[in-house]
Amino acid sequence: LPCSTLSEDKVLLPVEVCLKPSSTAKIQDVRSAVERMLEKRSMSYNDGPIPVPLDDTFLADNVQRICVCDTDEGMHRDNVLLFWQVKPVVHVFQLSEEGPCEDISSDGQPSSFNEWILPAKEFDGMWESLIYESGLKQRLLRYAASALLFTEKGVDPFLVSWNRIVLLHGPPGTGKTSLCKALAQKLSIRFNSRYPQCQLVEVNAHSLFSKWFSESGKLVAKLFQKIQEMVEEESNLVFVLIDEVESLAAARKAALSGSEPSDSIRVVNALLTQMDKLKSSPNVIILTTSNITAAIDIAFVDRADIKAYVGPPTLQARYEILRSCLQELMHTGILTSFQDCKNVMLPNYASAKERLNDGATFMQLCKQLLETAEACEGMSGRSLRKLPFLAHAALANPFDCNPVKFLCTMVETAKRERSEL
Ligand code: ADP
Repeated sequence: LPCSTLSEDKVLLPVEVCLKPSSTAKIQDVRSAVERMLEKRSMSYNDGPIPVPLDDTFLADNVQRICVCDTDEGMHRDNVLLFWQVKPVVHVFQLSEEGPCEDISSDGQPSSFNEWILPAKEFDGMWESLIYESGLKQRLLRYAASALLFTEKGVDPFLVSWNRIVLLHGPPGTGKTSLCKALAQKLSIRFNSRYPQCQLVEVNAHSLFSKWFSESGKLVAKLFQKIQEMVEEESNLVFVLIDEVESLAAARKAALSGSEPSDSIRVVNALLTQMDKLKSSPNVIILTTSNITAAIDIAFVDRADIKAYVGPPTLQARYEILRSCLQELMHTGILTSFQDCKNVMLPNYASAKERLNDGATFMQLCKQLLETAEACEGMSGRSLRKLPFLAHAALANPFDCNPVKFLCTMVETAKRERSEL
């Protein structure tokens, strides 16, 4: 569960322990070993990695990394908690390396859904890479945790009503789909003692309707039959991600106006009925996204308990996104000729603002990064993450690439990109 305060003023701090792919150790044994290790340590807990102790051969052999996951949005990294103020809650997991299992329909066409076993290697680090200011990630995590707890405790839905449908809406490229996947991954880790198996089924609503409608009906039936089978297994936690739900509303509208075969309305209705049926299963969470920001007029949106608007990144979020990009380019040695580039730690937004007047040469870089973040106003997270690549491709000499020169090119590239929007 997300960090919260206990009655005796201790803070519950989630600690995630990722096992090596080769490890065959029992989760319980690793959990106990990590708990013992944390008990012995008189350390300050901050967000981030805890080194695996090399003198503990059991942990060194089995554990890839240990991470404290406390922060709201990773923006308050300076809050240090001392060991006696916290109660670590250890979650041990191993990443699945199986990749997506794409269902191929009988005609050889790729089908409209993908299935993943969670936690998946592909989604590792995704949660941390998504940057929002408003406490959005923490809110989603708390919401899902409460929903699962209510179900687990058997709260009567006639007395207290809640459901397990999340809708994220906002402009394209703001990270909605990624956030849904990352949330599913996070929950699969945090709830693995209750649900040892976890799957994510990714449905593209748009592709359901781009096929022949008669086929779509069959697809929906087949899809939900499959999901139903997964859900019947009590130890399974199942996430169903439906992307671009607005296409359901569009299909319904088109059917009503007569421009689409009336089959489509049956497909939409079938989907809604199936979702209602699924709602009664305790171990399913339905995650949906929509690119339409105005009121989405679609029956099932009313069914969603949590509707969160995901907007374009603010100045602070833009700075943090670009900082992480730059940090990666330094770390991988693409950016050079600047001190010992690989080990430079750029300050976060708050410290950068404070330290601007330091006069250090390195502050030149922070200043430029702030200016670049300002120049990128209105750009989506997706465009921001592409910007460093485009800037690199625009350099006259990509092999001698110093960060100051690089940031100048990045501002130029941002301006060009924005003018082409
Ligand atoms: P959407 O579903 O809203 O169209 P995606 O989930 O496809 O957006 O986002 C595409 C990519 O853009 C993400 O994988 C991520 O790399 C980047 N991105 C978007 N928003 C953010 C953000 N707020 N912080 C960090 N990266 C972001």
